[in-house]
Amino acid sequence: MKALSIRQLRKTYDNGFEALKGIDLDVEEGDFFAMLGPNGAGKSTTLGIVCSLVRKTSGSVEIFGQSIDQNFAKAKQMIGVVPQEFNFNQFEKVYDIVMTAAGYQGIRPADAKPVAERLLRDLGLWDKRDVQSRMLSGGMKRRLMIARALIHQPKLLILDEPTAGVDIELRRSMWQFMQEINRQGTTIILTTHYLEEAESLCRNIAIINHGEIIQNTSIKALLSQL
Ligand code: ADP
Ligand code: ADP
Repeated sequence: MKALSIRQLRKTYDNGFEALKGIDLDVEEGDFFAMLGPNGAGKSTTLGIVCSLVRKTSGSVEIFGQSIDQNFAKAKQMIGVVPQEFNFNQFEKVYDIVMTAAGYQGIRPADAKPVAERLLRDLGLWDKRDVQSRMLSGGMKRRLMIARALIHQPKLLILDEPTAGVDIELRRSMWQFMQEINRQGTTIILTTHYLEEAESLCRNIAIINHGEIIQNTSIKALLSQL
C-alpha cells in the first residue's frame, strides 16, 4: 500500500511563478521519508498541496489510495500535519490545545483524553499541561505541535522542517520520538535542508530543486554515491 502517491503535480502561483514543474513521488506505508532541498525548492508547496492548504494547478495526489479531490475528508483524517509556523491560541493551555484539536477531528473527549495524556507524557509536556502556550519555550511549542498533530492517531505524519531552530539535544530527543512512532507503524514524511537529519532518520529520500525531483532513492544508495 502506498501512503502517498503523487503524479505530475504542478503548481503555478497567482503571480505566475512555477513552483512545481510536474513532480512524481511515491511513499510506501511504514516509510520514514525525507524531502530534502534548498530554500525555495518547492517542499512546502508540495506538502501544502498534500494537506490541502495549497491549491494545486494540476496533477493527482492520493493518500492511502484516496484522492484528495474525490475524498478530501477521508484523506485528511489519515494525515497529521506539523507546519513550520506556530499557530496556537496564545492563551489556551497545553492540554486544552490538544483536546480542542481532538474536538475538531470529531473525537469524543473520553476517547481523546488517554491519547492526549500519553502524547504529552511521551513528548515531555505533561508537567506543562496547565500552562498557556505563550509561556512555552520554542522547543516545547514544537513538541506541542507534534502532540496536536497526532491526537487523531493518523496513519501518516507530515512535518515541515520539524527541528528548524531546535538545539542539538532537543533535536535528538525529537528524532527518537519520531523513530518510535514510525516503529509503531506511522508513516512519516518530513522536509529538511539538513542532509544529516535525513541521514540519521529516514530510509528513503527525494531531493527537490527548482520545482523538480532530481533524485528519489534510498538514503543508503544516496550515501554510497558520495
Ligand atoms: P520556506 O521556509 O518553506 O522556504 P518561505 O520562506 O519560502 O518558506 O515562505 C514562507 C511563506 O511565505 C510560505 O507560506 C509561502 O507560501 C509564502 N511565500 C513565499 N514566497 C512567496 C512569494 N513570492 N509570494 C507570496 N508568498 C510567498
Ligand atoms: P521550500 O519549502 O522548498 O523552501 P516553497 O514551496 O516554500 O519552497 O516555495 C517554492 C517557491 O515558490 C519559492 O520560490 C517561493 O518563493 C515560491 N512561493 C511560495 N509561495 C508562494 C506564493 N504564495 N506566491 C508566489 N510564490 C510563492
